[in-house]
Amino acid sequence: MSAVELPDAKPNAEGVRWDLSPLAPDAAEAGWQVDRALEAARAFESRWRGKLASISPAELAEALAQLAELENDLGRLGSYAHLREATDATDQENLDLSARFDRAMVEAANTLRFFELEWIALPDDVAGRLADAPEVAADRHHLVSSRRFAPYTLSEPEEKMLAERQTAAVSAWQTLFGRITSTLEVDFDAGDGVEPHTIDRLLAHVRDPDREVRRGALEALFGGLEPHADTLAHVYDTLVADRLAMDRVRGYDGPMEPTHLRNELDGPSVDGMLAAVEAHYPLGQRWFRHKAGELGLAQLALWDQYAPIAEARSVDYREAFGIVETSFGHFSGRIARVADDFVREQRIDAEPRAGKRGGAFCAPIAQNVRPFVLLNFTDRMDDVMTMAHELGHGMHFELSAERQTPLSAHTGIALAEVPSTFAELLAFDFLMQHEEDPETRRSLLAERVEGSFATVFRQTVLTRYEQAAYAARADGQTLTADRLSEIWVRENERYYGDSIALPEGYRLGWAYIPHFISVRFYTYAYVFAHLATLALYANYRTRGEDFVTAYLDFLGAGGSAAPADLLLPLGLDISSPSAWDPGFAEMERFVELASVPEG
Ligand SMILES: [Zn+2]
Repeated sequence: MSAVELPDAKPNAEGVRWDLSPLAPDAAEAGWQVDRALEAARAFESRWRGKLASISPAELAEALAQLAELENDLGRLGSYAHLREATDATDQENLDLSARFDRAMVEAANTLRFFELEWIALPDDVAGRLADAPEVAADRHHLVSSRRFAPYTLSEPEEKMLAERQTAAVSAWQTLFGRITSTLEVDFDAGDGVEPHTIDRLLAHVRDPDREVRRGALEALFGGLEPHADTLAHVYDTLVADRLAMDRVRGYDGPMEPTHLRNELDGPSVDGMLAAVEAHYPLGQRWFRHKAGELGLAQLALWDQYAPIAEARSVDYREAFGIVETSFGHFSGRIARVADDFVREQRIDAEPRAGKRGGAFCAPIAQNVRPFVLLNFTDRMDDVMTMAHELGHGMHFELSAERQTPLSAHTGIALAEVPSTFAELLAFDFLMQHEEDPETRRSLLAERVEGSFATVFRQTVLTRYEQAAYAARADGQTLTADRLSEIWVRENERYYGDSIALPEGYRLGWAYIPHFISVRFYTYAYVFAHLATLALYANYRTRGEDFVTAYLDFLGAGGSAAPADLLLPLGLDISSPSAWDPGFAEMERFVELASVPEG
């Protein structure tokens, strides 16, 4: 029985809006508070600038506490501005407020930056002694890990020169890529007459029930990319060459080293994980062969990969929240209460409306103000999963806020998606136990399988493609469109085998993917998070109550340790390649459930 009473839901969560008053009473007061926060930042600077070299542990603790308070104030005020803008970006007062806070944030960051720079500049033994002091134990990991780039940092004048050339050497190419891919439009008829389609709009058709629409949309996309292939390859080639040159200058071991450092993961663990994923590509192929049968085809083509095989029933907001809250409650009363409090305190904005941004997110706000969730709820079963996902982030933010300082609360991208994906699995398993509509079950199962594949398998293909491209460039080979296409097709064929026919045009599939351009090897962290979650979920199913306690501890630990150390108490030793086996067993369980005809 739900601890919080929801009224009967109107269609599309009408009227479900958040109450931002705990963040600030109004724009004028928020503006005044941000001025005060900036003053506090300047006072912090005059108090501590130049002091780090001779700081005592007690003074360091004092400085960190002041910094934490500033983080809380700026986080709360910045969130107030951005959450207002997120629900109405057409309101001039909201836009002005956001712009004002963004300027203030830049100023605050500039004012406070000296602290981290002075900290990083300390000799290892001095910093080590300070970080080990009991006075700063709560921030030990933050202090130690913020120094991890120090060995690769150059002298101040050298760093300044590199920063000055960044605009022309890197950003200009990224902007060019963005301009080409965001303005590219292709004429396409999805059934309502010929219209110009952007890349995103074409890609949305891969889930269309009509095979001709799916095929036509992808063919149109590849045709549209063709005239830009040489330019897009040149952009990538230039960026890869520059990154390799910078790696040599800074002394990195290989092209993945900076990403590993940022993710706080070690190379051998990541290599072991990627090899384990590849060994399971046949599981993907098994599903695609099954799916061909479901669709009455001898073999899937690329455009059938995400074709729907069933249609889920609709579900209103009240029922959706009930599903999520009850499924959380089966795991632990503590996390069900987190969900209840979101509703009770009106920290969810679910109603889609004009001026509101699309998609969904959970905003952590600050240590002393609880998180908020934005949804665009349209009574679809997908929306239930999205709600579980965002409330999963919410339970992480809330439990870590209770035990961590603002500097130690947040994890990097390798773990950030673990609680959200875990929460989806709780809701999914609950639905599998209770949902009676066979079409809805089929749809949920297929989406669970294909969602896991899209993250675990596809993102590994992307990582392998990048590895091969960097290796070729390091070997002196220019990354032409033909060479990139060859690598792309090779890595994709290893995954799909003969289970999916790849059309000729797909050789340009690399050309529009923004991750390659913005942050190298970005995608493997998603593989890591997803597989880790599946492995944790398998542990939960075997260990039960004993796992629940450890998992709540993990949520409360936030970013107070590296991923490997946070996962170990949950039974996941990421240094061992067999660590991932329970995760793959979960994927296999989904495939089996999805492949069994329901009677
Ligand atoms: Zn998420």
